[in-house]
Amino acid sequence: MTAPAHLIKGWCPGALRPMCSGDGLLVRVRPRAGAFSVPTLRAIAETAARFGSGEIDLTNRGNLQLRGVSEDTFEPAIAALRSVDLIDTSAAIEAVRNVVVDPLCSVDPDRGNVRDLASRFEDALAEDARLLALPGKFGFSFSGNSELRVGGRTADIMVASEADRFVIGLDEAADFCAVVPENEVIKATRGLALAFLDLAAEHATLRRMKDAVARFGAAEIFEMAGLKASSRSPKAEAVSAPAGMLARGDRVFGVGIGLPFGRIAAGQIERLCQSAAGVKLEDVFTGSQRILIFAVGECASAKRLLQAANDAGLITSNDDVRLEMDVCPGSPGCGNATTDTRADARRLVEALNGTLSGYSVHVSGCEKGCARRSAADFTLVAHAGRYDLIRRGRPGDPIALANVEADDIGNAVSRFILESAS
Ligand code: SF4
Repeated sequence: MTAPAHLIKGWCPGALRPMCSGDGLLVRVRPRAGAFSVPTLRAIAETAARFGSGEIDLTNRGNLQLRGVSEDTFEPAIAALRSVDLIDTSAAIEAVRNVVVDPLCSVDPDRGNVRDLASRFEDALAEDARLLALPGKFGFSFSGNSELRVGGRTADIMVASEADRFVIGLDEAADFCAVVPENEVIKATRGLALAFLDLAAEHATLRRMKDAVARFGAAEIFEMAGLKASSRSPKAEAVSAPAGMLARGDRVFGVGIGLPFGRIAAGQIERLCQSAAGVKLEDVFTGSQRILIFAVGECASAKRLLQAANDAGLITSNDDVRLEMDVCPGSPGCGNATTDTRADARRLVEALNGTLSGYSVHVSGCEKGCARRSAADFTLVAHAGRYDLIRRGRPGDPIALANVEADDIGNAVSRFILESAS
């Protein structure tokens, strides 16, 4: 399919600026402050089934991405999404509304609820025309506890709730932060984004906040934003996947449902929504871990929802090895791929389910490594229909085993696991 000229061919698609991929257009829908209502989620599934391939990705920024939309079905798909208020007023506003919210912040009673604050910040982003110049990947996050990262992932500017104050930090500088009261968070965060834009206007190579931190230092950027900042011991808590029944002691507060390799079919969403509506749930929350979070305060309802998810083939336990696997779309979804990464990852799980536990795995259709930025215990990079295996690294790092047939990746990984255990 040939993409119309207005379609972006690079990264970070939106709904109004879809990206052309191997299986059609990718139409990415952003939640409002990290939340979709259950009826809205249902509408997304209906739209995906009617106007796309029916497959939907949950991205690592909590967005839902409809796959396989064609040039002919693009406009009706947008109309359907607009009818449930999922479309921003312009592509520029959609692009700047790049905000990840801790999905547990309005679910776990031990976390601060930053959702309303994040919602007001999204409004502020849309209202300040200067911020529309931020680069497409530039993002913000709001954490419900004192750990700046959300789900273990950093953002360019991060806000974290700490008692009755808020810590604001920059990517690659979590040890130097400003602390402000709630009524100053939006102004402070906006000021930091504008400081970045001022620096980027003078230095065209600055694409992300970490570039600016590396060049000028965090202290200079805080000063430009008129903020006092000081050293702080960064909190880097171990990140566990909030999948399955979420409880503290006997007190159930939620359910987390994982999407195998970040993808769900429209029919699976429909079954999940039916069950969620049956136990009177109104919203679903997304974050950076490819897990849908529901606030459920009652054990029987939680069990019912988990059973429906399990029946639909979704992940309902936090020890499911698929939660530790990052798998890019591969073939046929991406034109750069030479292997069906998702089918190969499934085969790997079937072959090694018991022994993969505790290891991170990245299956990449090419050297670009879209699915994961950090190193993994096992990284499989495809080229010409075969895989190179990298130990404790990322695509481009030294290869431990080259040219492994797709059918043989289970044996290859197993061999390294056995070697490291002996
Ligand atoms: S890693 Fe390569 S094959 Fe996979 S989605 Fe990215 S560009 Fe496509």
